[in-house]
Amino acid sequence: MISTGDFSRFLETFAARIHAAKEELTQLDSAIGDADHGINMDRGMTAIVELLPGLQDGDAGTLFKQTGMKLISTVGGASGPLYGTFFLRLGTAFGPATEIGPTELAAGFRAGLEGVIARGKAGLDDKTMVDAMVPAVTALEAGVEDLPAALEAAAVAAADGRDRVTPLVARKGRASYLGERSAGHQDPGATSTTILFESLRDALRAG
Ligand code: ADP
Ligand code: MG
Repeated sequence: MISTGDFSRFLETFAARIHAAKEELTQLDSAIGDADHGINMDRGMTAIVELLPGLQDGDAGTLFKQTGMKLISTVGGASGPLYGTFFLRLGTAFGPATEIGPTELAAGFRAGLEGVIARGKAGLDDKTMVDAMVPAVTALEAGVEDLPAALEAAAVAAADGRDRVTPLVARKGRASYLGERSAGHQDPGATSTTILFESLRDALRAG
């Protein structure tokens, strides 16, 4: 079972890795966007880390709902509302639970993904964070019998999704304004989503 404290460690890990990848994410966004993805995500996750001491002993739903609301209020651009919606839906799915099993984990992440798609209207191959998130959530769902293996499979699937769409032309978000010139560039949002699933794997494995 995964406790709220475990999820708090996941968010802390994600924040630390986003901070470490800030320049890389901003670099990627400077090629096909407006060079703020690293700054946006780092600002949001730094604000989340400050909330964690007050949330880590409560329920998982509150932890993720507060995370989602904070991201929406602190992160501008496309990614703030999208990641904010992801975490809000995750919080709603977990509700008052303080211990989450693999099946509920996968269901929560599916709800989060559906929130991102409902909000951003991106589908597979539009070259966004959705291209990393869809295969990762599918891997989580397929692996509920063996959580450590599923977490590894999800992280690998996210990275594969991120890399698979690099040659494609972006059809959603700022990168789509570039048309054909977006082809051949790695998507910043798919990159941060891969970091999210790697953080989940590593934080839960360490517990
Ligand atoms: P902005 O594009 O507003 O500057 P960010 O730079 O923080 O916001 O985030 C850009 C990332 O957001 C993109 O790399 C892409 O993965 C993701 N993104 C943009 N639009 C959408 C959308 N409609 N649906 C899903 N993801 C999107
Ligand atoms: Mg940007």
